[in-house]
Amino acid sequence: MRVVENSYPLPANSIGKLIEYDITNLRIMVTMNSSRNSSELAYFATGCFWGAERRFWQLPGVIRTSVGYMGGHKDNPTYEEVCTGKTNHAEVVEVNFDPQQISYQRLLEEFYTMHDPTSLNKQGGDIGTQYRSAIYYTNSEQEALAFNAAKVYGKVLAKSGIGPIVTQIEDAKSHKYWLAEEYHQRYLEKNPNGYDCHSSTGIAYPSVDELQLKQQLDPLSYEVLRNGATERAFTGEYTDTETVGVYKCKACGNELFRSETKFHSGCGWPSFYAPSEDDAVILLEDRSLAPRIRTEVRCAMCNSHLGHVFEGEGFDTPTDQRWCINSVSLILEPR
Ligand SMILES: [Zn+2]
Repeated sequence: MRVVENSYPLPANSIGKLIEYDITNLRIMVTMNSSRNSSELAYFATGCFWGAERRFWQLPGVIRTSVGYMGGHKDNPTYEEVCTGKTNHAEVVEVNFDPQQISYQRLLEEFYTMHDPTSLNKQGGDIGTQYRSAIYYTNSEQEALAFNAAKVYGKVLAKSGIGPIVTQIEDAKSHKYWLAEEYHQRYLEKNPNGYDCHSSTGIAYPSVDELQLKQQLDPLSYEVLRNGATERAFTGEYTDTETVGVYKCKACGNELFRSETKFHSGCGWPSFYAPSEDDAVILLEDRSLAPRIRTEVRCAMCNSHLGHVFEGEGFDTPTDQRWCINSVSLILEPR
């Protein structure tokens, strides 16, 4: 039997360094394990920041919020300067959150539905680049999730004839956050009847109902899909299955893999050499076993954990990739 180590080969001089390895044709997007931190920053622009800040501070798991200006070209701008539109700053909410209590994905879902992300440089009656829709990400996991959520929500909106999403998604490192004047901070707490822009598409984000999922799934499937656990090798229902059909996400039904790309790797988990479509999955850099760095595979539709992908192991497949996926994260629909 062929022995396959469930990790990517580690360069000898890699300890304590960021390992850069080239995986051809794979989209490596992320540095993960924000979940190890007790707080993380996120920046969102949804038009007037007064109402936006309140929506974020009301979410359980959000530690602290403030409002400010980002994305422009003048240092320390005033509200009046930003309002002219000439500094090109956006009104932004800084969200400090606990990733153990609220996921960045959940913040994104709130972001995309609390305003109209298809409206260019205006929200309702507020017109100008300062009211643009924008996300400034603070790590590569946020980057991957923000772009993916735009794609997922964009498809839902397109079905209703709305779109496209015009949200600016950029690295926060390139845009200093300037705290706004004190009277703007928690404005609607100081002025409960103050202005709160309610522009939105009115279309719900296709969120996962966590409670319902927990009730529907067996405990192992839930632990794997939602908490990133791994089933024991050689125990999964589909490890060596050859049935012709389509493998779908057990949490949301998204098509992920086809039997045509399944092969016997001997590793103890179902192995595929490619997903059905590139955008069926999201790839995240997984540092949970640091210094070993792996590439995690999640469902692009519901952000559930599926497994990992490895490359360059010498398998005689068209891609030389091994998409090592937990059986319990999949449902096989025979054809
Ligand atoms: Zn899914």
